[in-house]
Amino acid sequence: METGGSLTQAIRKPTLTPKAIIHQKFGNKASYKVEEIEEPTQNGCPGLAILQKGPSLYRCSLELPDFSVVSGSFKKKKDAEQCAAQMALEKLGIRPSADSPTAEEAWTELIARVKFIFSNEFLSALHPLSSHLKAALRRVGDVNGSVPASVIAICDGKPNYLFKIINPTVESHPFLVISYIMRAAAGLPELVVSPEGELSIRKKDPYLPDVIESSVSQQSGVAEGITTMAIYIPCSLEKAVETMILNFSSAGYYLDVIAQKLGLSDANKVLISRTIGKASSETRFYFAAPKSYPLDMSSDLLNTKVFTFGGPLNVRASYICGQDIYGDSILASIGYTWKCQDLFHEDVTLQSYYRMLISKTPSGIYKLSREAILAAELPLRFTTRINWRGSFPREILSSFCRQHWLLEPVFSISSFPTKTSSELSSNKKVKVSESAEQETEYANENGAVDADAKPVGLESSFTCEVKLYSKCQDLILECAPNVFYKKQNDAVQSVSLKVLSGLNAYFKDIDISLEEQKQLANIFDIKFYPQNFSKEVVSCLSVHNFQDNETLGGKEPESNKINILDDVVEIDVSSIDIEGPDSGVGPSNGSLLCVCYSVSLVIKGELQKELLESTEEFEFEMGTGAVIPCLEDVVSQMSVGQSACFYTDLPSQDLVLAAAKDSANALAFLSSPCCLEYSIILLRVTEPPEDRMEQALFSPPLSKQRVEYAVQHIKESGATSLVDFGCGSGSLLESLLDYPTSLETIVGVDISQKSLSRAAKVLHSKLTMNSDPDAPCRSIKSAVLYDGSITDFDSRLCGFDLGTCLEVIEHMEEDQACLFGDVVLSSFRPRILIVSTPNYEYNVILQKSNLTSQEDDPEEKIQSQSCKFRNHDHKFEWTREQFNRWASELAVRHNYSVEFSGVGGSAGLEPGFASQIAVFERAFLPGEDHLQEHEDSTFQYKAIWEWNRVSPL
Ligand code: SAH
Ligand code: MG
Repeated sequence: METGGSLTQAIRKPTLTPKAIIHQKFGNKASYKVEEIEEPTQNGCPGLAILQKGPSLYRCSLELPDFSVVSGSFKKKKDAEQCAAQMALEKLGIRPSADSPTAEEAWTELIARVKFIFSNEFLSALHPLSSHLKAALRRVGDVNGSVPASVIAICDGKPNYLFKIINPTVESHPFLVISYIMRAAAGLPELVVSPEGELSIRKKDPYLPDVIESSVSQQSGVAEGITTMAIYIPCSLEKAVETMILNFSSAGYYLDVIAQKLGLSDANKVLISRTIGKASSETRFYFAAPKSYPLDMSSDLLNTKVFTFGGPLNVRASYICGQDIYGDSILASIGYTWKCQDLFHEDVTLQSYYRMLISKTPSGIYKLSREAILAAELPLRFTTRINWRGSFPREILSSFCRQHWLLEPVFSISSFPTKTSSELSSNKKVKVSESAEQETEYANENGAVDADAKPVGLESSFTCEVKLYSKCQDLILECAPNVFYKKQNDAVQSVSLKVLSGLNAYFKDIDISLEEQKQLANIFDIKFYPQNFSKEVVSCLSVHNFQDNETLGGKEPESNKINILDDVVEIDVSSIDIEGPDSGVGPSNGSLLCVCYSVSLVIKGELQKELLESTEEFEFEMGTGAVIPCLEDVVSQMSVGQSACFYTDLPSQDLVLAAAKDSANALAFLSSPCCLEYSIILLRVTEPPEDRMEQALFSPPLSKQRVEYAVQHIKESGATSLVDFGCGSGSLLESLLDYPTSLETIVGVDISQKSLSRAAKVLHSKLTMNSDPDAPCRSIKSAVLYDGSITDFDSRLCGFDLGTCLEVIEHMEEDQACLFGDVVLSSFRPRILIVSTPNYEYNVILQKSNLTSQEDDPEEKIQSQSCKFRNHDHKFEWTREQFNRWASELAVRHNYSVEFSGVGGSAGLEPGFASQIAVFERAFLPGEDHLQEHEDSTFQYKAIWEWNRVSPL
């Protein structure tokens, strides 16, 4: 925002409360704790104090990364919080803009502050800056006692606040601050400013000896000195980023040591960036001030020229810092803090450098929060709070904003309370998601949502939009998906995730055109304000070592298609070796998996390995893209107890080095052609809530009861052929093989390829392994699995004796469920069709069984109790009446009879069965039995596995 000397900017800013200012500065790093304090009533009778409790009073303690404050007592919690925030602001030297001084007043205040900084009183204060003042007294030679102006600029909050009033452009030109400090000091007779080319200030007369003695002795000069690791970031992109060792002796000033490493004589020529990373961090960039730092002491105050460096921009440092850094630079974590007079220091390793680099992107922030850089991916969907692992989308969005120096994201939630009705909505215009689960497709639905259409049949539903603003309050993007959620939190998390996914796609493909950016925005319901966006969210291809080698190699990327949603690495999952016996317990979408894994760097064709990342127990939700695609694919083929090993191409070098503890070793490996080796063991599978509830409440489990129900019908009807519509991972087909039946042909159809490949595996092993002539499944002659939608017709499934469709229709939209009914009874026409679906009325009982007690989050407990359906993938759940109506009308239409029963619970007892079942039986039509063969062959399904018994000769 180049407003030159305009003061109006500062005046027009809306008045923020102290709490709001603290929030903008610290986000969730500021933690408020309000406690109730009991004020004994002053009636002189202590025994009555409990009975005559006076009005409650509240006190608030506010904890910030560096210090904490405690408010006085207030009648309202709100006031206690504002008071604490106000106290913190005073401590930080920030005044809320409500009573902002004018530029002239600010200038006077700045001069007074600089004067105070060099007072005897300040030297003995506990303040990071006074620690520098003390250390400066240990400097030798000409520089003794002189303090670099850049230190005052970074350590003292007070002037920083004043500068913004004097000249708002300091926000984007932070080093302008130094000019103002020097200028203020130059006007004070008791101070001496350094000659041109140096940026330091010192007291003309020495401090009183006793002041020096008492203050300096507070600083425990470290006897052996300090050694710390830092990172050297050359300006030239050709030169590698390297680690360096900094040795600080107990005598002297640490900044002089850093200056010397930068090739300078002393710290008076060093510039220091703001801090990077967490709020309490002391990690900063150090670099040389240009020789001709224009101190422009003569110009009028407001029009001090925006200072431009002639020197070359250090692209890597500037990108990480979000502030312009020039020339070669050192990244070190060292400095004086509020906590202690002694020098704080921490190693900055190459690994931490790469972690800073990847934390600029949403997926990087998520990976870091999971400590799984090579395994985790920012999930595509937010299903429930229970299932999410790692930082929540909202937190990640806040971190992202802090990383890019934006304001905290602004959410607005709208709720639509509507009349409660158990009728299910036929109004498909407004999408109401139980969770983000249903909202898998990112594209706008072609039937745009009518904003006036109210969702029906819900107690209340929420939609949420979010806006991101720059520090100058320019809108940079907004996202307002017209999707409704039953829970407010789901709406907030889902919209956050949408923005993050959009930003992630942008970071993956940084050099996209404006046109492509628009396309991307559409996919994620985002509106970018391109000018503000590109100014604020600086992304830098040359800094990230993206895998996209083709782009780097200068090959033109295909311009007319964006591949933002493509998986980068693909491997042939079917060729993976899975070891260990199949326990039969495998994952399905929605299950929570726990794996043990390790990832190593291996040189192609060699045996050595470098371990990069490993975790004993890593949990994630299946089917949401919470891990890299090939890991999810491999795990979907495994059962509990099995292990597998696979190789992938290298991801970007940033990721490898952010994971590697030993960067030197990793770099040595990377100089040869490498790949990554993943070893995984599947430890546990926790079923989606529906299955958990059913298993806990029913014995035998409901699924087993459904199988037994089917077996009974097979026996009664003497059926020789069976088709299982929506067979999933084959649980029914597999279990049927354990019973002696008359079945000869069994077929399964499903649309989920992953489930089908599991089904193929279990059926195959059961059918081939079982050579025992007395095995119950000996009657089976053939088995086939088809990939297809059961709403499509395929002539190969005509005329079967028995059809089953267990717990499937509720996974389809209601109109699709009706379509399936019509297709199966009019075209497939099995003799008997068994359809089961949950009984909505039974849910109260399932929920009362209080399975959520294992969740310790009380909020989640309440939420999941109010959750309507048993499984977040369910599109509907019917009452007995709704199911009866559907089935009866269907039967009449197609000349079938229908009878109702169920499993779990009993028919006579309210609220009926847990799983309600309709058994359709074809009415006898003369001549129909000859119609077995359908006239035309319509093959809509794809056979993906087929087994035939080799008949004994
Ligand atoms: N019948 C199985 C699986 C139930 S889960 C059992 O009782 O264990 C529901 C299954 O329906 C899932 O595997 C899903 O992939 C499948 N499904 C949903 N819509 C479908 C469609 N239109 N065509 C075929 N299968 C479908
Ligand atoms: Mg189900």
